[in-house]
Amino acid sequence: MSADCLFCKIARKEVSSKTVHEDHDIVAFHDLNPVAPVHVLIVPKEHMDNLNEVGKGDDQLLGKALRLAAKLADDLGVGESGYRIVINNGDQGGQTVQHLHLHLIGGRQLEAKMG
Ligand code: AMP
Ligand code: ZN
Repeated sequence: MSADCLFCKIARKEVSSKTVHEDHDIVAFHDLNPVAPVHVLIVPKEHMDNLNEVGKGDDQLLGKALRLAAKLADDLGVGESGYRIVINNGDQGGQTVQHLHLHLIGGRQLEAKMG
């Protein structure tokens, strides 16, 4: 937990979000500035700045987050049409919120080219 972290605040419900899933470890909610018809953030509640802070003990949590991403994609109707999972990591990775999260993006054709 980090007092000033936006996603910790969302996990603690001090900041509201359009939640699509919550359990003991993970909260998922619609991105405030969606880049596609489906744009959900999947956020482990435990504060880790990014993948650089992930340890061996987090293997199960990360596996769960990926499986949840696939389930939410299905729930939101893009499981079959396809979607992208993105983790922006660090400055040059384009990370703007320093709390590890996965983007689930879909509902339109995404370019094959990355960057
Ligand atoms: P990243 O750039 O990978 O760190 O992603 C941060 C994401 O958080 C961006 O897509 C923002 O649009 C999104 N975001 C910022 N503030 C909020 C908020 N209060 N609720 C939901 N999404 C947010
Ligand atoms: Zn945090």
